[in-house]
Amino acid sequence: MAFKPEKPPIHGETPDTLAERLVADGHPRYRAGQIMEWVYARRAESPAVMTNLPAGLRSWLESTFDFSPTELVGKRTASDVTQKVLQRLRDGSFIETVIIRAPMEGVGQDRSRRTICISTQVGCAYGCKFCASGLEGWKRDLSAGEIVSQLVQVCRIEDEADPARASKGLASFDNIVVMGMGEPLANYDNLMAALRTANASWGFGFGARRITISTSGVVPRIHRLAEEPLGFRLAISLHGATNEVREQIMPVNRKYPLEELLPAAKAFARRHGRMLTLEFILIQDVNDSLDQAHRLGAIARDLHAHVNLIPYNTVEGLPWKRPSLTRQDRFVKELRNAGVTATLRREKGHDIDAACGQLRLRKEREAAGPA
Ligand code: SAH
Ligand code: SF4
Repeated sequence: MAFKPEKPPIHGETPDTLAERLVADGHPRYRAGQIMEWVYARRAESPAVMTNLPAGLRSWLESTFDFSPTELVGKRTASDVTQKVLQRLRDGSFIETVIIRAPMEGVGQDRSRRTICISTQVGCAYGCKFCASGLEGWKRDLSAGEIVSQLVQVCRIEDEADPARASKGLASFDNIVVMGMGEPLANYDNLMAALRTANASWGFGFGARRITISTSGVVPRIHRLAEEPLGFRLAISLHGATNEVREQIMPVNRKYPLEELLPAAKAFARRHGRMLTLEFILIQDVNDSLDQAHRLGAIARDLHAHVNLIPYNTVEGLPWKRPSLTRQDRFVKELRNAGVTATLRREKGHDIDAACGQLRLRKEREAAGPA
């Protein structure tokens, strides 16, 4: 079910759709550009501060659009500078946006790679066995405006934390990754609308090549994404190098097995002429054998893909464990020996439930009261 808010989010508009509404209600079309500038370049929290607009237009904006479709309700910072931003939607649901500041190797401490991880749905229907987001199923898709609003909120946090960066807005970040709660390609149209706003010169002007969409493997949508004029990057959550292993933990593999997923990934990479990422969570006794490493190596070589190994983050109530450091190292060595570029991401933010969906799940359970 789609959620119908009282007022549509301003962040779901484009200059064209906004201009149409302005004109229909007797305001000049050219105001659309000014309003967009307030919303994105200056991150205005309400029309009240839009001082170059007439009072009548400001009150029209106030009564027509929602300027805070996602409301900041909490921030938690981990020792390794991962920050989780919990936001409440108008229907009372919670979503998470994560800011990751990873130090860049060989560069002074003042320069770290800064990434924003955004959510696309409340919950997830894909039900991967290891994932907190899928634990209680899918609740609803986020609207384009709600997806964009996460970026606006993160910018506001950064504006406050570091006024020197404030003038740069989203440009002070290096990457956006669509790896938060939900399956991004299952909310395709809203996600594309949101990312076009992130990319547009009237929006955040953020380069498509710095935006990565992660999918559990919705094959027809990978083909569709390959045809988009904006060249977003793609990450595939593989987590199993054979159908047998993948099927144990990812129900989506029954619908789109590896013999369909891998050619789709290859076609995408060919079309965009750039490297894919294969995400591989290491789960003890599920997918951490040398045989899996060997087969994963063959897949990555064939796709010219980079492999991102993520030691599993334990989720309350789920039986899965992360392998020992020795087994993790053995796995990555096997891949590297096969000539594959692989990073072993030592966990970030384990102490604040940084794995997707965990903080929000806790909050929703608290809100629901004792079972
Ligand atoms: N639905 C998309 C994007 C969101 S999940 C997808 O599955 O790709 C983002 C990433 O977090 C995925 O690679 C997912 O497998 C991973 N993830 C989920 N739960 C995790 C956990 N407990 N520990 C480590 N990674 C996890
Ligand atoms: Fe959904 Fe991704 Fe979690 Fe699977 S890993 S349940 S697709 S959010």
